[in-house]
Amino acid sequence: MSPFRIGQGYDLHRLVSGRPLVLGGCRLVHPDGLGLDGHSDADVLLHAIIDAWLGALALGDIGQHFPDTDDRWLGADSRELLKAVLALPGSRGWRLVNLDATIIAQKPKLAPHLPAMRGSLAELFDCPVSDISLKAKTNEHLDAIGRGEAIAIHAVILLEKQP
Ligand code: MG
Repeated sequence: MSPFRIGQGYDLHRLVSGRPLVLGGCRLVHPDGLGLDGHSDADVLLHAIIDAWLGALALGDIGQHFPDTDDRWLGADSRELLKAVLALPGSRGWRLVNLDATIIAQKPKLAPHLPAMRGSLAELFDCPVSDISLKAKTNEHLDAIGRGEAIAIHAVILLEKQP
């Protein structure tokens, strides 16, 4: 197996009322009081990152590891899901080289929150903040994301096997 592995992850969650908005382990405030719908805390950014990590190591996907039919994950803090993935036997010996993710959201404005999210992710991966890149885009008011009905994430990860 190559000492380098690349992984890609994608996720989308609907924005609804009566739910928290959590991105990268950070609680944000939506101007219309909306949050992300889902079985866990619906942290769509962490879910895409988890899928990127699992994808890099060909360990399946988040739905296989944490099925939404399992009440253990009801309301779960997605940081705990990521920690569980990093602790899998198949993850042993692998470390993050860098992570790059794009957050697609019409609202709220994310730029002011990116430093806190990067810090939160760097803490989870126990890596420098400079290894974590987050970019925020809108969808120019087009499609469901552009109408503010959902937030989507694309994430790419590079892993290196520790000697
Ligand atoms: Mg998800």
